[in-house]
Amino acid sequence: MVYNRPVCKSLLEDNGIMKVDWLIVGAGFTGATLAERIATQLNQKVLLVDRRDHVGGNAYDYYNEHGVLCHRYGPHIFHTNAKSVWDYLSQFTEWRPYYHHVLAQVDGRPVPVPFNLNSLYALFPPRHAGKLEELLISEYGFNVKVPILKMREHSNADLAGLADYIFKNVFLHYTRKQWDLDPEQLDPSVTGRVPVYISRDDRYFQDTYQAMPVLGYTEMFRRQLAHPNIRILLQTDYREVLDGVQFNRMLYTGPMDEYFDSMHGALPYRSLRFELQTRDTEWHQQVGTVNYPNEYDFTRITEQKHLSGQKLAKTTLVVEYPQIHRPGVTEAYYPIPRAENREHYAKYEAEAAKLNGSVLFAGRLADYKYYNMDQACARALKLFSSEVAVA
Ligand SMILES: Cc1cc2nc3c(=O)[nH]c(=O)nc-3n(C[C@H](O)[C@H](O)[C@H](O)COP(=O)(O)OP(=O)(O)OC[C@H]3O[C@@H](n4cnc5c(N)ncnc54)[C@H](O)[C@@H]3O)c2cc1C
Repeated sequence: MVYNRPVCKSLLEDNGIMKVDWLIVGAGFTGATLAERIATQLNQKVLLVDRRDHVGGNAYDYYNEHGVLCHRYGPHIFHTNAKSVWDYLSQFTEWRPYYHHVLAQVDGRPVPVPFNLNSLYALFPPRHAGKLEELLISEYGFNVKVPILKMREHSNADLAGLADYIFKNVFLHYTRKQWDLDPEQLDPSVTGRVPVYISRDDRYFQDTYQAMPVLGYTEMFRRQLAHPNIRILLQTDYREVLDGVQFNRMLYTGPMDEYFDSMHGALPYRSLRFELQTRDTEWHQQVGTVNYPNEYDFTRITEQKHLSGQKLAKTTLVVEYPQIHRPGVTEAYYPIPRAENREHYAKYEAEAAKLNGSVLFAGRLADYKYYNMDQACARALKLFSSEVAVA
């Protein structure tokens, strides 16, 4: 049962105190998965509260006025190696196989990323590209991902030069735009992960399972949450209902610092602004996403129809502008991966530990970690078996 804000407020007022086993804050992947498990496997009652006007958290999608399935909070592509997550979510959706492809606009040319052997030929004259290809394969082998920083230190000047070129033209300015920081100001793991992929595989991800929910994420969440033990209250901050709800335990998936009224100072996040544009043409670009590392204020443009597989006369694009996060004004999208921020977060973890498990914290915001959707789902499934089902 889903209640919008006025209905539920009156429901609480008419019936006095609402009694549930669990209060779950946040109806994204983490909250929805735990709510479903608790309702169906433990036959316990859940009140699921979200301050947004929809379920799905950042994965929320909707059909716009032109019939295009759009992702409100930026493009979300599903990919995982975890069979358990794939099997779990497959109960609530059919899938459309989809391999995401990304091109970066470099020196005016579209170049496949992650940078691979095809990228060499997209950028350089064929003889030069062929020479570099031979060199890469003889040095590292085929179908291998080599961290760009490692290649930059290679004693062979051609390999080091190639890595340097990629670093400067594909990675550096994109990172500056995305984080407003230089790569060396971020965790070494961020730069360390950027690979040169010695392969002809142009897919952005190489995971075993790659697909999009046929009817979209929101429909998947609707089915996941359709259970008589789950009540959903939208457009409501959980703090507004604390007096009207009696519960045994709570799962909180919002920002950890907010839960503790920022007693140790606000945790830093990066935010984004999404500009949706509909064009009167069938297709705008060749692939799902085109990155603009070196020009413009935006980082990338995604064409939604590549993700949904829809055949429509018009097309909708989402243009992403990174921006400073202002608590209460903008959305906190990305925890900023720096050692000092993890230390800052640890102060809140210590506060959470004092609650002795009466409140569980999980999810991208509460764990202050960048999770992909499958990781958020896996985290929730694991939490269910380790901390919820056994209690
Ligand atoms: C731009 C962008 C692109 C992404 N692309 C991908 C992708 O392609 N593939 C992929 O796998 N992952 C992607 N992700 C990651 C994905 O969004 C997350 O893995 C997923 O949303 C995590 O789910 P969650 O439930 O932990 O958090 P969220 O989805 O953020 O859900 C938390 C919910 O809690 C609610 N909430 C917070 N505080 C309160 C409160 N006080 N009261 C009530 N409600 C509250 C919020 O409104 C929110 O709905 C992307 C993320 C971003 C930002």
